[in-house]
Amino acid sequence: MRINLIMRCTECKNENYITKKNKRENPERIELKKYCPKCNKSTVHKEKK
Ligand SMILES: [Zn+2]
Repeated sequence: MRINLIMRCTECKNENYITKKNKRENPERIELKKYCPKCNKSTVHKEKK
């Protein structure tokens, strides 16, 4: 049940990270604060769908 997903910066829409999640444990969209090289700061990244 593990799927790959793309984490996208909510500010510049750059796709910065690929991660995995367990769909059964995390059925809803995830949000993570991560460093974005384009924004040059930490921003909220959301799962791309
Ligand atoms: Zn960004």
